[in-house]
Amino acid sequence: MKLCVIFDIDETLIHFIDERNYDVWENTSEKHKKMLDYEEDKINRKVCIFRPLIQEMFSFFMINRSTISVGLWTYADAKYASEIREIIIKLCNLPKDFFLFTYSVDDISGHYPKDLRHVYSNFPEFNKSNTFLVDNLASNVMHDINKQNGIVVPSFAPYGFNTNPDPTKNGEDEFRLHATALDHAKARRDHSLRDIVFICKKMSEPDKGEHVFSTDRVREMGLQSFFELNKKVSMKYITRIPASSRSNRSSATATFTQAQNTMRKNNANKSIKALTAEQTDLAGKQKECEKKVAAMIKLHGKKESHMYTNQENYKIDECKKKSKQISEKIKALQKTASRAYDIKGGCPCNKKSGKRKTMKSWKFW
Ligand SMILES: [Mg+2]
Repeated sequence: MKLCVIFDIDETLIHFIDERNYDVWENTSEKHKKMLDYEEDKINRKVCIFRPLIQEMFSFFMINRSTISVGLWTYADAKYASEIREIIIKLCNLPKDFFLFTYSVDDISGHYPKDLRHVYSNFPEFNKSNTFLVDNLASNVMHDINKQNGIVVPSFAPYGFNTNPDPTKNGEDEFRLHATALDHAKARRDHSLRDIVFICKKMSEPDKGEHVFSTDRVREMGLQSFFELNKKVSMKYITRIPASSRSNRSSATATFTQAQNTMRKNNANKSIKALTAEQTDLAGKQKECEKKVAAMIKLHGKKESHMYTNQENYKIDECKKKSKQISEKIKALQKTASRAYDIKGGCPCNKKSGKRKTMKSWKFW
C-alpha cells in the first residue's frame, strides 16, 4: 500500500523565530542554544530551530520512498513554505523532488481548514484510506473531514506564545516568550517524530477503504492508547479556543497588531527609565567620592592621603564601569523600542490577507 504523510511546518517540523522576536534568541545563552539543532541567519535576524529527530524521520521516509510520499502544508504563504522546504531538503540531504507537494495558505479554502479532500482531488492515488496529516493545531485535524486522518502533535515551540491568550487582549499578549532552561530541556526531549515513524511502520492495509485511523484499523495497529491520549489532548486544546475562532485559529492567534508593538515599546521605555534613574544615582555617588578625594588632598596632601584616596578612586572606577554597562543596555533597549514601533504587524499572518508576511531571502541558507 502506498501512503501519503502530510506535515504542517511551523511548530510541527520546525520552530521559526523572525526578526520581531529575535531578541529572545539573542538573549539565550550559548549553553542552551547548543541544546537545539538550528540554522541562524544573523544578518536578517532569523532562526529556524529543528524538531528533534527530523533527520532520522526523513531518512526513514527516504529509505521507504517507493511506498511513502510526503507533502507539506502550512498556513503561511507559498514563498515561506518553499524556503522552509529547501532548508529541510538541505538539512536532511534529500533529493530536490522529494516532497510530493508543498501547499500554503493559498490551498486552504472552504469551511474546513487543511481539508484533505484537496489532496485527494489533486492526487487520485491518495484517499482517506492511505493519507494522513500531522499538525500541531487540533483545529486542522479534529474536524469532520480530517479527524480519522490526522495526528495532533504537541507544539514544538521552546519560545512559545502565551498558551492561554486572553481573548480580550486581541493578541496583545502573543509575543514570543523567553525560553527557560526547562523549555530547552523539554524541547530536546521531544520525541513526537519518532511516534510518526512508529505509526508508519505499524500501518495496516484497509479492509474496505476505511479511514487510516478508523476505530478498526487503530485497534489492528495496536494504537488505541496512543489515539485515546491524542484525542484527549486535542479536545482539551479545542475547548480552550473560543468557538468563533476555531476554524481560523492560525490567523486569529498569530496576528500581530500595532497594539502589541506599542506594548513592546512601552516595556522598553519603562526599562530605560529605571536604568536612567540607576545611572543618575551612580553619578551622584561618583561625585560624592570625587569631592571626598579632593577634600582629603587639600587637607593632608596627595602623598599622605593616598591610602584613603585609593579606596575612593576604586569606588569611582566601579561607578564608571557600571554606568558604562547601563549605557549599553539603554542603547539596546532604545533599538528595541524603535524597532517595535516601526513594525506594523503581520507575523506570522498578515491581518488583512491572512498570509504570512513575505520574508527577505535567507542568504545563509
Ligand atoms: Mg503549525
